[in-house]
Amino acid sequence: MSDDSIALQLFRLLDDVEDYLQGGVRTVHVPPTGIRRPVQLDQQPAELDAQDRSPTVDPPAAISSQPSSSTGEALSPARSPDFSGYDQFDLPERKRRVAALQVRIAACTLCRLGETRRNTVPGIGVLDPLVMVIGEGPGADEDASGIPFVGPAGQYLDKWLEAVDLSRHKNVYIANIVKCRPPNNRDPQPDESQACSPYLLEQIALIRPKAILSVGRVASQILTGRLSTIGSLRGRVYEFHGIPLIPTYHPSGVLRNPDYRRPVWEDMKLLRSILSR
Ligand code: URA
Repeated sequence: MSDDSIALQLFRLLDDVEDYLQGGVRTVHVPPTGIRRPVQLDQQPAELDAQDRSPTVDPPAAISSQPSSSTGEALSPARSPDFSGYDQFDLPERKRRVAALQVRIAACTLCRLGETRRNTVPGIGVLDPLVMVIGEGPGADEDASGIPFVGPAGQYLDKWLEAVDLSRHKNVYIANIVKCRPPNNRDPQPDESQACSPYLLEQIALIRPKAILSVGRVASQILTGRLSTIGSLRGRVYEFHGIPLIPTYHPSGVLRNPDYRRPVWEDMKLLRSILSR
């Protein structure tokens, strides 16, 4: 086992201990190889031309789904995806491409999550949003509906957004690291996040958010490239390919533990302050 993977397991263990101490115990998975953490666009897709008829641009490369160091910079330039070709697309073209991307995601068989999903959950919201919210992956409600963050955590997330004048109907796009539900709501595995990452990167390039809010440890570790607990990642601004990125707790974690409400509120205010710059 590599040093990185030992470090990852250690951080997951620390996260679990943090959960236990805070009283928000979650499932702990112990696979044979060792201890692991348990664990719309305002567009109507049907109205959009899902045919991708425009000039070909290579989609961005995959995100490294396995942060390589607890202190390292997020995604080294060598692995940076190339968004440059996407600058040429106007709004109608970007809408067409987002719709085409949804069609590709719906047919995806790149990882094992495709075998157990009911629906793919590509994302929902507006183009050119103030904020793109990125969670880890669909749960049962999202798998049933094909829409991200519609269960209790999603309704709570909508309240956070509303508190700072944001909404998925007006100025937010919501997506996940993986577009298919991990069975029993376990964490997405590194190869699953890796396989799905070109979809997320292409979404970001097409949707062009002004800022990103990553919710929860999994999304925040992947997007910052740091193997820290969410408690130590949050509270500051990172950059994801030139876009300000703010990590915060996952709404389902906050529902379990009201102590996280205050830091989330601080993070939402930080987010709002960035948007008015
Ligand atoms: N949790 C997530 O991370 N994403 C969803 O879409 C729903 C719950």
